[in-house]
Amino acid sequence: MLQKVVIIGAGPAGLLLAHYLLRRGKYYVELYERRPDPRLMDVSQDRTFPISLQERGRKAIREIAGLEEAITATSVLCNGTVIHRKQGKARKIPRAIPILTIDRNRLVMILLQHLTETYTSEKLIVKFHCQCVQVNGRSKTVTLKPEQGEAFTVAYERLIAADGARSHIRDYLVQNAGLQCDQSYVPDAYKSVFLTRLNPALGLELEPDKIHAWNRDNKTRMLMVPQPGDRLNGVIIFEQEQNSLLSLSTKEEVLAFFQENFPLFGQLMSQEEAEAFLQRPVGRVLTIRCNHFHHGDSVLLIGDAAHAVSPSIGQGCNASLEDVLVFERLLNRYEDDWAQVLPAFSEQRVPDAHALRELSDYSFPRTKVLVVEFFLRLTMSRLLHRWFPQWVKPFVFDLVLDEDLPYSQVLSFSQGWINKVKRSQP
Ligand SMILES: Cc1cc2nc3c(=O)[nH]c(=O)nc-3n(C[C@H](O)[C@H](O)[C@H](O)COP(=O)(O)OP(=O)(O)OC[C@H]3O[C@@H](n4cnc5c(N)ncnc54)[C@H](O)[C@@H]3O)c2cc1C
Repeated sequence: MLQKVVIIGAGPAGLLLAHYLLRRGKYYVELYERRPDPRLMDVSQDRTFPISLQERGRKAIREIAGLEEAITATSVLCNGTVIHRKQGKARKIPRAIPILTIDRNRLVMILLQHLTETYTSEKLIVKFHCQCVQVNGRSKTVTLKPEQGEAFTVAYERLIAADGARSHIRDYLVQNAGLQCDQSYVPDAYKSVFLTRLNPALGLELEPDKIHAWNRDNKTRMLMVPQPGDRLNGVIIFEQEQNSLLSLSTKEEVLAFFQENFPLFGQLMSQEEAEAFLQRPVGRVLTIRCNHFHHGDSVLLIGDAAHAVSPSIGQGCNASLEDVLVFERLLNRYEDDWAQVLPAFSEQRVPDAHALRELSDYSFPRTKVLVVEFFLRLTMSRLLHRWFPQWVKPFVFDLVLDEDLPYSQVLSFSQGWINKVKRSQP
């Protein structure tokens, strides 16, 4: 007899977990997602952004045969970042180990396609446009509201909250089961931007294997990532409180804003994109810190629902995918006894999630002086680590991106720098 697992949220964490559970042959999975089916829409029309995946996320994907290959085929490997500026030469920061970059919705689409092609409806049901609106832990049921039609209730044996930073299931546990959770918005907001890498009329061509960044000042910056073909997808990040984008109301003003503040990117923006940019919503990032990630033997919080962080060091998705790998190892260790697996998951994962929160908030400084020190330290530690690897550890960014050490270990190696950045912030 198969155990019934209901997963709420078909983001990277929910979809990868469905793969892992189904391959065990002991589970039947029902997956409900509030958004429309990504296979039926144009990714550029929705709020999306490029995600960089390094070893933590990739090793979790690699476990499912064929997945990493499918993802690699539609992503771009970047071996460094170019920081462009108005005056002076662009600064290049190479990466010895390339990072895989992929649009969030495309990643989701591949995980989903692979899942639905591998498992039939006897094992897997996936429903879109279906929002979880109520949880009842006593009767072990959830209520789902489709976009059209009546709400309906389904029973679960195990319930997975993979419903992201604004998790409904987590809210239920906070209100009814004593879960402690701190939530706060990061000061930055963002808007997605879609450019082309080339402008032949102006003789412009940005490198296809580099992330392209531009810091207008400490408050407004752009991060653009090459996509297959000539696309360059990314975000403009700005302080929510001082949102100069709010005053823009025509496509001409949008183009003028980018040409003035980010001239290179302004020259790569089409009229259509300037028009679409006006309509696109502003995204806010909510960060989450919970004291555990489970309830009893039946409810698991995973991914952003458990530990959403600022995207400043590009780890939220990597950590969410790694959660799935950690969870599967515990299923193996405790032979699918969820009464043992769930507390063990919290015990192992909460310290790493809290460490990741610190690393995401304080690895990259916001004051000019510390930004200079940051790049000095990065360059020096690379040199010294190459010469004396046994004595000098890589700097915090390289430790996060080039290794797959537990986040708590990365934090303990980098605590001095993290404390310094923390002290510099109001
Ligand atoms: C601008 C930006 C850049 C980023 N860059 C990176 C990066 O470079 N590298 C990296 O590792 N991470 C990055 N991240 C973080 C990354 O996007 C998240 O950590 C990751 O998407 C988390 O996956 P998830 O599946 O847990 O949650 P989500 O991706 O949020 O998916 C949750 C899903 O649940 C659905 N849902 C929510 N509520 C309900 C409900 N009540 N009922 C049904 N469905 C529901 C949502 O529609 C969504 O599809 C970035 C984030 C942002 C905002």
